[in-house]
Amino acid sequence: LFRTLLPILLSFTAGMARAETADIERRLDALMAQMTLEEKVGQLNILSGETLATGPVTFKGDHATEIRAGRIGAMLNVVGVNSTRQYQALARQSRLKIPLLFGQDVIHGYATTFPIPLAEAASWDLPAIERSARVAATEAASAGIHWTFAPMVDIARDPRWGRVMEGAGEDPYLGSRIAAARVRGFQGRGLGELDAVMACVKHFAAYGAAVGGRDYNSVDMSERQLFETYLPPFKAAAEAGAATFMNSFNDLNGVPATGNRHLQRDILKGQWGFTGFVVSDWGSMGEMVTHGYVKDDKAAAEASILAGSDMDMESQVYGKHLAELVKEGRVPMATLDDAVRRVLRKKFELGLFDDADRFADAARERSTVGRPEFRQAAREMAAKSIVLLKSDGRTLPLSPRLKTIAFIGPMVKPARGNRGGWSVSVPGHDADRETVSQWQGLAERAKANGTRLLYAKGADMMGSDRSGFAEAVRVARQADVVVVSVGESWDWSAEAKSRSDIGLPGVQEDLVKALHATGKPLVVLLSAGRPMVFDWIADHVPNVAYTWWLGSEAGHAIADVLYGDHNPSARLPISFPRSVGQIPVYYNHFNTGRPATDGKQEEFKSGYIDSPNAPRFAFGHGLSYTSFAYAGLRLSTTRLGARDTLTVSLDVRNTGERAGDEVVQLYLRDRVASVVRPVKELKDFQRVHLAPGEVRTVSFQVDRDKLSFFNDKLQWVAEPGEFDLMVGAASDDIRLSARFELLE
Ligand code: BGC
Repeated sequence: LFRTLLPILLSFTAGMARAETADIERRLDALMAQMTLEEKVGQLNILSGETLATGPVTFKGDHATEIRAGRIGAMLNVVGVNSTRQYQALARQSRLKIPLLFGQDVIHGYATTFPIPLAEAASWDLPAIERSARVAATEAASAGIHWTFAPMVDIARDPRWGRVMEGAGEDPYLGSRIAAARVRGFQGRGLGELDAVMACVKHFAAYGAAVGGRDYNSVDMSERQLFETYLPPFKAAAEAGAATFMNSFNDLNGVPATGNRHLQRDILKGQWGFTGFVVSDWGSMGEMVTHGYVKDDKAAAEASILAGSDMDMESQVYGKHLAELVKEGRVPMATLDDAVRRVLRKKFELGLFDDADRFADAARERSTVGRPEFRQAAREMAAKSIVLLKSDGRTLPLSPRLKTIAFIGPMVKPARGNRGGWSVSVPGHDADRETVSQWQGLAERAKANGTRLLYAKGADMMGSDRSGFAEAVRVARQADVVVVSVGESWDWSAEAKSRSDIGLPGVQEDLVKALHATGKPLVVLLSAGRPMVFDWIADHVPNVAYTWWLGSEAGHAIADVLYGDHNPSARLPISFPRSVGQIPVYYNHFNTGRPATDGKQEEFKSGYIDSPNAPRFAFGHGLSYTSFAYAGLRLSTTRLGARDTLTVSLDVRNTGERAGDEVVQLYLRDRVASVVRPVKELKDFQRVHLAPGEVRTVSFQVDRDKLSFFNDKLQWVAEPGEFDLMVGAASDDIRLSARFELLE
């Protein structure tokens, strides 16, 4: 019965969706027909407003007049029901009563802060990442927000760039899977649902490749590199149904992204058939004047709209010049109409014309924001994001029978640092009070076990004061185990936070050295928004975990991992360099004609005379409290026909004494091709949970798509020939390999 009914049901829902789309298009036509030129331009204008937890909003500058006149279509930085409703009430007073859109940077949670995106990426756990976006959307939507400026999907190979924290790291495949998961999480079951927010995929495009890792800097790259490495996550996000895109500040090969017709019209709206709208980045239209790409604001408006930038964020060049440009015939009315329709269509899809507040009221907001199950999700996500970089197999997990632990360092006590950059300040919430500090988390657990927890700060994060070292050493000497928590200050990674030296700031490394010299068992926790350089620690400290910035539940999650309630399973989504001089260093590089063997002094090879080529910690690296063995690699065939799919299987066994997750990674290498191909590329991965002694068979499907690449004519092709297939626990820890051939 089910089999008979299913197709009928499916065609019925598809039919409903079609009817709904047709209905929206009809309503859109009717509305467009009533709009003046000025009202149309108004829909393309987004400005930053004001937030108040309670009481009447005063509205910045002339915003109230402008909204009533229909000259503003969207607001950002208006957060919470109290403020959004008051703004929306003004829009209801406009002639056509077109509702406002409220956009906000909900980057890693709303009131419940999740780990920074790069940390979440380290989980390699797609359902968990999707869930975290789902929670953020549910909270934000209840507070009147319709649209998040996330996910950021910029591939980044340069940890000097402060915005690596907002993305998913260096790999196009992992980045694409995560981009799609985040879009699904934000948009839920569809924009019409009350717990959905529109995703905004940013920054289109290649922003992460800024020269020297300096924010906003130029990008110069081949079209092939753009398509192979930087565009895949954008494409994946578009295919997952992302409602909007944001362009970027950088120029790409001399053309600012905001004025870049090739990116926005040819690729995004053309080749990929994207039907949503593109918002500029903050002020990026006006900045084309400073770039030296256009002579004034009016020319900036013209270049932007012609290039396919639909909405102007804070440059205010559309509001000032677009109507005139249309009247002068420099911008076709059809071009303007297309942009306006793209924006209005989303307002219809969100249901704003049926209820401008989307039922966001104080009661719904109160009962949604900060729900206990959201905190629980944040705690699990945070634990899943912690990467165990080194372990001596003895100190961790901490024994509940320890008498005394010393918890030392500048990251231990302050709550704020754990949230990192881009956390939302939610009206009526004291985020610091709502964040579980590392001290709180560990102290709760230590107390429950009857363990004494001692504290010393030791040093500040920055500065050169060593006067706290003696006290820290004194405290350490009294303990059975010393846990040191050091890192980067929360405001040292994010937009405009590029660093030329990504070492541990201040005297923190010296603090670790002083504690190491006590000879006590030592665990170092490193919190940061980016990979840091910490070579001495990596060489000398036997237990090191990367704790990034983990959000509201940081302290609990860290205790969960230190005590082994959560067995670490995170993997680096980006290479950790040994030194700044190695940057950019990434796993999926090409072979040169003279590859060097790391660790050997070889003449005339492509290496450094003062450093290995390999990074300190490779892409995909991360340890567990248990161990896994790989065996029995099987390929369904070693001679693959053009239309065949290869099935790859292997057995993974938990050889340790604890249950744990292994992230099994599949890499491929195209041995000979018409253009040089990377030494390996991640093509799939699977997380398996194994009880001690348990064996599971893991299978992967390798189809033609996984063997394809962009050739020098930018065609997506798979070329016949030999491929190396590698399966392992990290890009530098390949356990099994085989070779197969793709036939003509
Ligand atoms: C950032 C964007 C962000 C926007 C709005 C810009 O400065 O580059 O990522 O979404 O501001 O806050």
